[in-house]
Amino acid sequence: MTTETPILTTDFACVINGVDIATESWIDVLDPGTSQPFARVPDAGATEIDSAVKAARAAAPGWAATPPVVRGRILRAISALISERREELARFESMDTGKPLRQAYADVDVAARYFEFYASIGETLFGDTMGLSPDHFAYTLREPLGVAGHIVPWNYPLQISARTVAPALAAGNTSVLKPAEEAPLGAILLARIAREAGLPAGVFNVVTGYGDTAGSALAAHPGINHMSFTGSNEVGALVTIAAAHNHIPVVLELGGKSPNIVFADADLDLAIPMIANAIVQNAGQTCSAGSRLLVEASIHAELVERLTTGFAAITLGVGLDNQELGPLISAKQRDRVVSLVSGAIADGQGVLRTGGKVPPALADQGFFYEPTLIDNVDPTAEIAQVEVFGPVLVVTPFDDEAQALAFANGTDYGLIAGVWTRDVGRAHRMARGIEAGQVFVNTYGAGGGVELPFGGVKKSGHGREKGVEAMIGYTQLKSVVVRIS
Ligand code: NAD
Repeated sequence: MTTETPILTTDFACVINGVDIATESWIDVLDPGTSQPFARVPDAGATEIDSAVKAARAAAPGWAATPPVVRGRILRAISALISERREELARFESMDTGKPLRQAYADVDVAARYFEFYASIGETLFGDTMGLSPDHFAYTLREPLGVAGHIVPWNYPLQISARTVAPALAAGNTSVLKPAEEAPLGAILLARIAREAGLPAGVFNVVTGYGDTAGSALAAHPGINHMSFTGSNEVGALVTIAAAHNHIPVVLELGGKSPNIVFADADLDLAIPMIANAIVQNAGQTCSAGSRLLVEASIHAELVERLTTGFAAITLGVGLDNQELGPLISAKQRDRVVSLVSGAIADGQGVLRTGGKVPPALADQGFFYEPTLIDNVDPTAEIAQVEVFGPVLVVTPFDDEAQALAFANGTDYGLIAGVWTRDVGRAHRMARGIEAGQVFVNTYGAGGGVELPFGGVKKSGHGREKGVEAMIGYTQLKSVVVRIS
């Protein structure tokens, strides 16, 4: 495979109080498809985090007092600029993460949509009036919390940055965001766009750096009033402990082991491409990846055969080559996938139908892994329980609805699920029984759906991103009572 990925040398500074801030030491940003550096970002830490939180604190009263309609206009201008820069943003996102260009375009579009959506609903943060007594007039004020902290991962940097920052700003908060060291550019580009769109200095700050320096400094900073974290369970726990010390709310989005559950009466022609996409998209590095396939025994052989054939035909390449499957984000993530799959096969946890290895032709180029299907996996096996975060689908047959539900709920996670059936009653029974934040019937993921509240139960996290709920989560309610007679 040849690549025409341009190798640029570009410095991307932090954006603090509206100003580009660099540090003496830098972090190289690699294209995971070539393993070559093409940009660098500051190796910032506690000092820069402190400056950013102070800038956000200073900007908070002015932004909170800005009329919602004016805030909405600025957020709409950010949305418009994101769309205008679609090409540039998608190319950077593709090089930064390795994802195929077409997925990067979709991410840019969703990022623009977040700002458009929250621009509108930010104008609807109304309070209530309460009939307390004839002598009193009682009402609620929905107020911003102050400064929101955001720690985001590398899998959808632009989209997740927009997902978490847009509702915070719409509700009148100011923000400090730390992107992942592996893919920090989307957040910086977003902060630059926000500045250009007229967002006042200090309202949205981005500080790059490593997790255990910049990330932990942000999580522990006493000047933040809310923390939103997307990433691993281990770091989610650390962030929660830090938030507990500051007594601030925390939203955790920690991934999953989401099932697609296919009954014998399902429309397989509809289901198969979506089941494949649910695990191939973003090379399986999606918190809501459909990484488990639960299939009714009578159609098990047919479904596995069709998926195996499809997986074997998937083309791989660097992001800008726009093949169907890109690389994993890093050598570390690739090696983790290699180790989990090889261990599972060696242990007899399932039968490898296709994939299960680094593609030989791309082994020296980037961090690729073949789309992999492991069949007849015991639902309690490690490979059926652990979030692999790679293009690895594990298949378990079931005998009836009760067993399907038990398998679906049989992990520590509960993020999303897909149910494939023509039986309307069963679809609703399954939707009620499944322990997850989102259930899709005869579809999966619904293209991002910024309107849909999104988040987990069990170890997938708590709190909700997206939808009206995310914005409500960035507010606090004050009750006011006035004696009128
Ligand atoms: P991670 O949790 O280490 O990183 C996520 C973010 O947290 C990054 O911005 C990182 O810099 C920051 N961080 C790291 N240590 C920190 C600390 N001590 N304090 C504050 N912030 C810190 O995740 P990872 O190591 O990049 O990936 C490991 C696994 O996590 C993956 O294999 C996958 O299972 C899961 N993951 C899930 C998601 C998701 O969307 N839910 C995203 C990325 C990774």
